[in-house]
Amino acid sequence: MKTKFECPECKRPVVSRRHKNCQYCGAELPESLLYTKAEIEALNREFTDAQEERKVREKAAEAEEIEKAEKEATQRGTIIGQMFRK
Ligand SMILES: [Zn+2]
Repeated sequence: MKTKFECPECKRPVVSRRHKNCQYCGAELPESLLYTKAEIEALNREFTDAQEERKVREKAAEAEEIEKAEKEATQRGTIIGQMFRK
């Protein structure tokens, strides 16, 4: 038997198995259609991990940007300094 994830009220596919109610008609969905607590926890953990990873990567990219900008500014400053130095 294949489990169909559809709302028993409006027969539309269940958009989010995290939500207790149908996203279309608001009917309460049977527990069998929803994720179990363990499944939600596993999903949350995965989500957090992905977020953390992205944050770390963004920070690294940002640091690189700043370093690059600082280097450019220093070079520009040196050039301008040389122009005015006599
Ligand atoms: Zn529905």
